[in-house]
This record gives sequence, C-alpha cells and structure tokens, in this order.
Amino acid sequence: MPVESNTPSDVPSGRDLRIATRSRADNWTKPPRRIETSECITCDSCLRGCPEQFGAIFDRGLDVVIIPELCSGCPVCVLECPVDCIYVDADWTPTDDAMWSHIALTGEGTA
Ligand code: SF4
Ligand code: SF4
Repeated sequence: MPVESNTPSDVPSGRDLRIATRSRADNWTKPPRRIETSECITCDSCLRGCPEQFGAIFDRGLDVVIIPELCSGCPVCVLECPVDCIYVDADWTPTDDAMWSHIALTGEGTA
C-alpha cells in the first residue's frame, strides 16, 4: 500500500496549490522578491533561473514580474540578474485577479 494513500495525486500540492489558493506557503520564512521595472532590461535571465518548483517569474511583454505568492525568496534570480534590479519585497502586495487569470489562461500554472 502506498505510504501517502491519504494524499491522492489529484489534490493540488506545491506550486499548483499556491496557484489554486492564491497564497504563499506558510513555512516560507524569507520575504518574496520584486523586480524594479524602471531598471529591468527584460533579458529574462531571472525567469530562466527561477527553480521550476517555484515558477514565480513571468514575462508580460512590456515587463517582467515576480508573483509574490509563488516566490520563496530563495533567491536564485538575484544572482542571475545582470543589472541587479531584484529587491526584497517585505511589504508585498497580493497579486490581482487579472494576473491570476493570465497565469491560468497561459497554462503556466498547470505544470
Ligand atoms: S527569489 Fe527564487 S523563487 Fe523568488 S523569483 Fe527569485 S528565483 Fe524565483
Ligand atoms: S534578470 Fe534582471 S534585467 Fe533581466 S529580466 Fe530579470 S530582473 Fe530584468
């Protein structure tokens, strides 16, 4: 018998759960990061570097953004950024409905 028989695979977990509940993990102690748009050169290096289990960075065309609910604050992206424009965002603002819809529509939340 599977050890985790009480956690069926169709129950969201990890990133999927964070997207479904639109909330950060309770056990993340580091604050999320944010990208300063006025300094960002939209190179997408941070997006490629963000670990798959977080998948917190999105290129919206005109700007690149970090979804704080998906960002653990790890902070791999900071090391990737060539212009050093990714900052701690202790007073982060919850992501709006339009962005959550974008995540759902693009399928980037179903990986
Ligand atoms: S701090 Fe980590 S989880 Fe957050 S956006 Fe950067 S790489 Fe992704
Ligand atoms: S790595 Fe830095 S400059 Fe490049 S898209 Fe990310 S935040 Fe912007």
